[in-house]
Amino acid sequence: LFISFEGIDGSGKSTQARMLAQALEQDGRDVVLTREPGGSPGAEEIRALVLQGDPDRWSAETELLLFTAARRDHLERTIRPALAAGKVVICDRFADSTRMYQGLSRGDLRAKVDALHELMIGQEPDVTLLFDMDPAAGLARAKSRATVEERFEDFGVGLQEKMRAGFLALSQEFAARFEVINAARGIEDIAADVLARIKARLP
Ligand code: C5P
Repeated sequence: LFISFEGIDGSGKSTQARMLAQALEQDGRDVVLTREPGGSPGAEEIRALVLQGDPDRWSAETELLLFTAARRDHLERTIRPALAAGKVVICDRFADSTRMYQGLSRGDLRAKVDALHELMIGQEPDVTLLFDMDPAAGLARAKSRATVEERFEDFGVGLQEKMRAGFLALSQEFAARFEVINAARGIEDIAADVLARIKARLP
């Protein structure tokens, strides 16, 4: 089973991804917890190229190519081998993040995102958990975290509102694989909700 976690910055998805991985391991499942951008040695190097340093270093199109290259490496080296071995793969962000961030945040590149996805990735998660919450609260959470590399979080609430609406629209576009999680609740409540929804979908 391939599970992706999506949502705006500060939605708590990374904490929940770790908690789900632990819960499934306690159930005796083999779990690979991974993340994007990154998740393989080569893709982690690309992550540093896109998330650190001058935000204007890359054009929107070049950035899209770099994220796609990172995803391709991640898929080849980490995700596909794990799925082939029957493991549960939990991925903190996947292609839906590119549909939103590279597709929407610096102009409308969605058609190029979709074309590259079809050409070079061609894989969707079995389940996507969307952590939905008010961006102002999410941003407050994100800012309270010590991060050096996450220049994208300076988007501000306006752009995060756009991302939230975009993610909710994606959850309708790909309704069969999406589960929308109310991320404005306490950590334990959310974790129980997440586990129940995944258990309902595990083979
Ligand atoms: O999920 P995480 O907080 O680690 O993501 C790091 C940053 O990279 C975030 O601020 C997110 O907005 C950005 N990002 C992006 N495009 C992606 C994935 C993440 O701009 N495809």
